[in-house]
Amino acid sequence: MEVIFKTYSWFPLIFVFGTIVSIIALILIPFLLMSIKRRQKELISSIEELIVSAESIIIKASPLLDAGAEALQNSKECPDCKKLIDGAYGDCPFCNHKFSKKYYVNIIGPGDEVTLNKAAQKLAQLLKIDFHEIKHRLRMGFDYAILDRSKRMELMSGLEKMGCTVKEVVKWV
Ligand SMILES: [Zn+2]
Repeated sequence: MEVIFKTYSWFPLIFVFGTIVSIIALILIPFLLMSIKRRQKELISSIEELIVSAESIIIKASPLLDAGAEALQNSKECPDCKKLIDGAYGDCPFCNHKFSKKYYVNIIGPGDEVTLNKAAQKLAQLLKIDFHEIKHRLRMGFDYAILDRSKRMELMSGLEKMGCTVKEVVKWV
């Protein structure tokens, strides 16, 4: 023993130092863990707050976005002054350009696949449009320009018989 202590005189020092460091570490670890957990909780609650506020922003903004999209959809560009104006104008409010009235039939295809296919087949022949193209348009709903009133009425009743939903649309273009 004595020989060991003589040869390695630093050994007890290392041993004592190591023990002290270990004890300190053992005391500190639970505190460290607690503070990490607290930080995590704070982080989670702040993320939750962020999500809630983002949701409320989206909820508040969505009617505005809808209104904006609708306004853009119903607007048109004046061919003379290039200003974007409401689609309902007969005369441009900026340069007085006269628009002409154009009549459309808004067509939405039947919901079920079999009737939709039949309607698309008939319309593809009638309007001379590719079957897949017309089927896609029927699914999405589209405006078909048709000036003659009696032809328009005829087309509308024919479309209704095919199971489509139709309505007359007037646009100033
Ligand atoms: Zn104009």
